[in-house]
Amino acid sequence: MQIIHSVTEMQRYSDARRRQQQRVAVVPTMGYLHEGHLSLVRLAKEHADTVIVTIFVNPTQFGPTEDYTTYPRDMERDVKLVTSAGADCVYAPTPEEMYPEGYQTAVRVDKLTQHLCGITRPTHFEGVTTVVTKLFNATKPHLAVFGEKDFQQLQVIRRMVRDLDVDIEIIGAPIVREPDGLAMSSRNKYLSAQERTAALVLARSLFEIRNMCAQGESDALKLSRHVWQTISAEPLAKIDYIKICDLETLEDITHIRRDAVAALAVFFGKTRLIDNSILKTA
Ligand code: AMP
Repeated sequence: MQIIHSVTEMQRYSDARRRQQQRVAVVPTMGYLHEGHLSLVRLAKEHADTVIVTIFVNPTQFGPTEDYTTYPRDMERDVKLVTSAGADCVYAPTPEEMYPEGYQTAVRVDKLTQHLCGITRPTHFEGVTTVVTKLFNATKPHLAVFGEKDFQQLQVIRRMVRDLDVDIEIIGAPIVREPDGLAMSSRNKYLSAQERTAALVLARSLFEIRNMCAQGESDALKLSRHVWQTISAEPLAKIDYIKICDLETLEDITHIRRDAVAALAVFFGKTRLIDNSILKTA
């Protein structure tokens, strides 16, 4: 396992792999890894010879009142986990390496970032698209794997790659859940025992409407109302948003005519959790 901290060393590593005709994959993460991240690494390994996992808590994608400084970090454990999942290299740059003095450039995707999380986190996606572009340029991959857990992020990255002619294949990976349904997240660590139990309402309400949809219910307002009422009944939950939207444009829909996505963000105490489910028409 090679651990790299500098951009030039990372580029040299990837250039060498490419010269050996290897296919290179990258899995961008913020670390504090769990089985969800590791499923991405394994999927990447199925598609590539060399898998690079990036571990970087990116300051520019956090808002001023968000959890950048307290975001959990454990590099030693992360390196062990990705090694066991089959990764070949960890790229862990410092904030100074990523954003040296004088840094002043950004990558922005317009419309897709104005829905869902973009409403309450207006600077988030510009931070994401910029850092992902930089991570792509450092790791020079043929392909990159992102989780459907962050569904909007995945669609924004797909759009960015298309719009900017970035020659990298983007692969989406399904959400990995705890046995009781809670979507795995590094932020689950923040939850108290009561909040952890209360948070099960997210997956439960999404599964319920997924089944309703599969059985023929196509009224998106009715489905989102069902989720809203189910989650509102949980006293520890404070809803940020619950939306049913078009899979591609992420615009709200009232009627499900083709596959759609139900996406939500809900606070439990100070912890903001996101989850989603693809709704397939009957
Ligand atoms: P993060 O470290 O939270 O920035 O996530 C890094 C990558 O892992 C992103 O592509 C996420 O969508 C993905 N990811 C996080 N949690 C899960 C999960 N429970 N299942 C699948 N992918 C996930």
